[in-house]
Amino acid sequence: MIRDKNGRFVKGSGSSLSKEHKKKISEALRGNKNSLGFKHTEDSKKKMSESQKGRESYWKGKKLPLEMCEKIRTSLSGEKCYAWKGGTRKKNGYIQIYYPGHPFCDKKKYVFEHRLVMEKHIGRYLNPDEVVHHINGEKTDNSIGNLMLFSNNSLHGRHHKFMREQIIFT
Ligand SMILES: [Zn+2]
Repeated sequence: MIRDKNGRFVKGSGSSLSKEHKKKISEALRGNKNSLGFKHTEDSKKKMSESQKGRESYWKGKKLPLEMCEKIRTSLSGEKCYAWKGGTRKKNGYIQIYYPGHPFCDKKKYVFEHRLVMEKHIGRYLNPDEVVHHINGEKTDNSIGNLMLFSNNSLHGRHHKFMREQIIFT
């Protein structure tokens, strides 16, 4: 593996993504364009997570067909429908994209957007050990310039420690 001085993998290492996969990622990311840069007030965030909780339990164990997503989206108004725009949702403050067929999607067929952006950038799938770090600490800022790839979580943790020691004052 080739890495630059930040420990980030350099393009060209590992196996290549198929054209098909790259196209799929672009499509998935394009669908999510509306949510980028969207700012919520604290109040709406709270409301959203509350409505999200209720919805999670309602849908537990059930498959959610795309038409159903659309129905829910149109039956809800305002910010509440945000979670369904373009098949995206929030998990632990991170953006996830609905992506059935991805080899590492979760049980509900979602993949973290920052991982998809990195996969598209380096042209291969990330393995589950690899960790994508947000340079500015902003979990929803998934522009490629804000992302760094570490081959495992212990290297990722070392970077956090290193950054803490480097900063004398801010
Ligand atoms: Zn990090």
